[in-house]
Amino acid sequence: MDREPEKPQDSLFDVAVMAAIPHPLTYRFPPSLSISPGQRVLVPLANRKATGVVLGPTSRLAPGIEVRDALGAIDPEPALSSELVRLGLWISDYYFAPPGEVFRAMLPLRQATRRARHACLTEEGRQKLQELAASLLEESRKSQDAALLAYLDRRPGASLGILQRKFPSAYPRALDQKWVTVEEVKKERTRRQVLAVRLAGPVPEHPPWLTPVAKRIIEALEQQGPAEDHRPLLEAARAQLAHLRKLNQAGLIELREATPALPLEGRRRGGDSALPSGDAEAPQLTPAQATVLSELFPRVDSGEFSVVLLHGVTGSGKTEVYLHLIARCLERGRSALMLVPEIALTPAMQSLFYSRFGEQIALLHSGLTEKERDDAWWRVRRNEAKVVLGTRSAVFAPLANLGAVIVDEEHDSSYKQDETPRYHGRDVAVVRAQFAGAVALLGSATPSLESYWNGREGKYHLVKLEERIGGRKLAAVEVVDMRQEFRETHTQVPLSRKLKAEIEAQIRASAQTMLLLNRRGYSWFLLCRSCGETQRCVNCSVSLTYHRREHRLTCHYCGYSTAVPSLCPACGSEYLHYVGEGTEKIEQKFAELFPGARVARLDRDVARRRGEFLRVLSDFREGKIDILVGTQLIAKGHDFPGVTLVGVVSADIGLGLPDFRAAERTFQLVTQVAGRAGRGDAPGRVLVQTFYPDHYAIRLAAEQNFDGFFSKEMAFRRMMHYPPITALANVVAQHEKLERAAQVAKEMGEFFNRVEGQYPGIKILGPGPAPLAKVERRYRIQYLLKSASRSTLHALLKQLAHHCTQSGLQPREVMIDVDPVTLM
Ligand code: ADP
Ligand code: ZN
Ligand code: ZN
Repeated sequence: MDREPEKPQDSLFDVAVMAAIPHPLTYRFPPSLSISPGQRVLVPLANRKATGVVLGPTSRLAPGIEVRDALGAIDPEPALSSELVRLGLWISDYYFAPPGEVFRAMLPLRQATRRARHACLTEEGRQKLQELAASLLEESRKSQDAALLAYLDRRPGASLGILQRKFPSAYPRALDQKWVTVEEVKKERTRRQVLAVRLAGPVPEHPPWLTPVAKRIIEALEQQGPAEDHRPLLEAARAQLAHLRKLNQAGLIELREATPALPLEGRRRGGDSALPSGDAEAPQLTPAQATVLSELFPRVDSGEFSVVLLHGVTGSGKTEVYLHLIARCLERGRSALMLVPEIALTPAMQSLFYSRFGEQIALLHSGLTEKERDDAWWRVRRNEAKVVLGTRSAVFAPLANLGAVIVDEEHDSSYKQDETPRYHGRDVAVVRAQFAGAVALLGSATPSLESYWNGREGKYHLVKLEERIGGRKLAAVEVVDMRQEFRETHTQVPLSRKLKAEIEAQIRASAQTMLLLNRRGYSWFLLCRSCGETQRCVNCSVSLTYHRREHRLTCHYCGYSTAVPSLCPACGSEYLHYVGEGTEKIEQKFAELFPGARVARLDRDVARRRGEFLRVLSDFREGKIDILVGTQLIAKGHDFPGVTLVGVVSADIGLGLPDFRAAERTFQLVTQVAGRAGRGDAPGRVLVQTFYPDHYAIRLAAEQNFDGFFSKEMAFRRMMHYPPITALANVVAQHEKLERAAQVAKEMGEFFNRVEGQYPGIKILGPGPAPLAKVERRYRIQYLLKSASRSTLHALLKQLAHHCTQSGLQPREVMIDVDPVTLM
């Protein structure tokens, strides 16, 4: 073999480089540098620098490969344990994701320095400025060019964004003319400043000149006392730092630099100001909870891997089981990880965790700032925090000696990541538990078909909580046939007479109501009554949704948004008509329909404004809201004891979708939202409006009959060869140009034809346009691969991925989605 001659003292390591490269690359490291797997390093890649993760010493080196020198180590110690390196490689292999992209997702860490770009005047620029300023022509002196140059003269190093915004036409010209140069500088990251705020003294009579914002700040301080951290205060008062500074100048409040270390990054963002710290008493366990725990404890103690599926009806006290399991891990000197679908939704869960485990908790979720996430991550890595509560990517939390991995609401589709690496957080949690010798506990009132099937087959250990806590009854569910309603009233309204009457009764009784509608925005789309055109996204093959607050049409897939036209762009007609009701419209309608009732809304649009979102949640909990309208966000896991009526305005939109999980998703949604009713002392009622009253997903959800649904749906999956009976992969050829997408699909088709014979029992469906034929500008052509044997499917996909690389297809042209949750 003509191997590359090696200098014996140099060491070669495989590195997963954070780029879309399907395999690791080998680099040479100087012997003076001690390198170990899991360490972050800086390496050259083409003509730039890239970050990578060291996998291990090179095992084989292909002949003729030129090995480049690594540039250095980023952290002195490995960021990832060998267990997590192994997990990353498993994900890369199982989901066909470039290893570097997997590690990028696993390590949400920032660099210690950041690059900033500044603009400065050049000598020419300075001359030009003098020239313009001295000009006799007013239009020269007052030109945008002059304004830009003068601005930069006063503020050398101004940011490019500001210049672009302020001087949109002069800025490019100034660059062109070389009046301005852009410099790149490295900046140390600055710590975010945290200020402590308190009232300078009592404010007996609020001075009349106080603005509403200032009033809110002062009221907040009067109510909650001094704030150690100004940020939650600003959120609560909907104010800006500048407002605080003004009040400070006016002598009404005092600001001082707070101690910068924030040990509990999430606590302050959770919106709870006075949290107990770690040793709150747990309630007496019910016998059913005790039985479940008696199955779990020996598993933690044994240190062997196993998976337990906890099927517990809504309100059966699953959370208490999780908390006890975590406590057991800590007692045994082990750590614990708990995943929830959406941490933003569970401020209550956070405070519960803090009340039991105090400072041992770290939160990891996407709502944190970069800095907060960094701090939390390293606290976990340094073993200072032994319990992690987080969303999907927290499955990678660098906990050592893991005793339990808990996945709450394990059926929730938000555990699946819809971009590379396309992993399923629940399934990765199980593999992680396996590598760690830990217990994986999956909990849900509506388990996924996959997990329940595994439970039935004995692959997972199945345990149940069949009763609600305190002997409370599950809410009685009634189905309202909206076809019948239409026949009788001859009007298409969002609200049946029955639901309307029930809501009125609730208001009279001062009881709370929750209304589910699985569509956000104001109207579904804008339709031209003359030519029948709807306003569509320029990037995706979907209609745009009208959002009233912004008065814009928005795409729910790519975020594109545009002004509302006054005339139809297709035919010029003025008969544009808003079709369908979204949460925004229902909220408004109900406020009109039930005057005097306090109506609020909760959906992804509200969730984006964090302060408002937390306020709605806490106001509803405290009974300050009568009717809460929302999307599936309100169905997930909440415990609002005051809710006695849940109305499903519409939940069956999904049933018409060409997706094999449509029935499962509808069943889960209706069962979960019904589970929000009657969690307090008063019993709950649920009304489900539907156009498909006979559909088994609706009927069995109304009966809250999970086992009935499972059998029925399994029969369908078996007949149609869908998971969990078969392993499934979705392979999509995608490109901005339709011809290229077609060409990629053809290339894959030829490959499938050639190799199909080598993979007995595999079914390849396609090519066909994906149900969403275009998303984010890319046309999508789909193949669906099904196989009774997961390993056969994996082998075929592996060969496909290899073939795609060999034949020069770009990674972004071929999307492989293993175990897809949706085929849209
Ligand atoms: P699930 O997650 O199963 O829907 P929760 O964990 O939210 O149910 O529990 C429902 C309610 O019962 C909560 O208010 C919780 O505080 C309460 N609860 C749970 N376990 C007990 C217990 N052993 N004793 C008293 N109350 C309990
Ligand atoms: Zn038209
Ligand atoms: Zn779009």
